[in-house]
Amino acid sequence: MKLNPMEIEIVRVVQKCDGVSRKALAGMTGHSQATITNITKMLIERNYVVEGDRVSSGRGRKEVLLYLNPEKFKFLGLDIGGYRIRFALADNLMRITHEREYLVDEFNEQSDILESLLEKIEQFLIDSQWNPEELDGIGIAVTGIVDKERQRVVNIPNLNTWGELDIVSRLNDRFGCRVYLDESGRTMALAEKAEGKAKDVEDFTVVHIAYGIVAGIMINGQLLRGANNVGGLLGHVTVDENAGRCMCGNYGCLENMVTYPRIESDYKEQGGTFESIVEAYQVHDKIALDVCIASGNAIGIALSNVINLFNPSVIYLGGPVFEHLPIIFEETKRTILLRANRYAAVDMKLEQSSFGHKQGMIGALSLVRNALIS
Ligand SMILES: [Zn+2]
Repeated sequence: MKLNPMEIEIVRVVQKCDGVSRKALAGMTGHSQATITNITKMLIERNYVVEGDRVSSGRGRKEVLLYLNPEKFKFLGLDIGGYRIRFALADNLMRITHEREYLVDEFNEQSDILESLLEKIEQFLIDSQWNPEELDGIGIAVTGIVDKERQRVVNIPNLNTWGELDIVSRLNDRFGCRVYLDESGRTMALAEKAEGKAKDVEDFTVVHIAYGIVAGIMINGQLLRGANNVGGLLGHVTVDENAGRCMCGNYGCLENMVTYPRIESDYKEQGGTFESIVEAYQVHDKIALDVCIASGNAIGIALSNVINLFNPSVIYLGGPVFEHLPIIFEETKRTILLRANRYAAVDMKLEQSSFGHKQGMIGALSLVRNALIS
């Protein structure tokens, strides 16, 4: 069952207050007490809102406080990367109850990509025993360029045809709930702020390096977007102008030097003989260590520029590059200490991000939860 705009308004205030009387709700929203009584009655019957403690209002009569039912809301998050697409279902405490992942190639082979996506979502909901009618909202995080105003994907690297898709309208038509779209670096920053280590941090950056690089920059508690919603494009910051040409047209972009597949191929090109760089790293193979140190150096150069421009108090790093090859994390830190302005770097912390490979899913879920009820 879906909520109408007035019900959503009440739900947001109840969520914000965490215990509020009907009388106070009327005062805060400007609706009459009769209207509030009717709406809250409906919300309680439908289990969105629950009654809690009875408190004195000061004139004898006690009033019941209303709370949001933490398990009621049902959100679907879609994390669309350049290599994998992940689905996740969660309640409004962002507890993921079901998840599934696909390779993007499974979609690229379809003539109607969106229809294929919709069918897989429907099957996922059936397998998870979730009724699509009960979905309260869908959040989509995309590793690419997003037009935030028009809620359209502009470009996804490696997925050329996805840029023309009206994914928000199609999902809205099929599932009848609100659908929100944003770039995944920004949603990862939302996840860190809402659910992770950055709850009390106003100036921070989240960086995730897997098959691509995404970053979300929070300044004074606000996400950096820029005039065309392209701000924070860390993967295409120039790190070494003498390095190879990136698919964006520029030379020596960070993303052209350090992604998970790039590190792997650098290791092989330099004569590495192990099956993977991770395997070689575990036995301290010299070539693997050299590749990791060069990668950490490149990331450190790019982040030193971020630090000098935005002066974050924490940078959260995540993704398989850091998880499987921790020396890259250490080399990144060392390079920052050498290169970033010492007044900006002196107190700055470099930490692992909170959710590992789930950062994108929690990001997509945080996007819809924040938009609907926070
Ligand atoms: Zn580039």
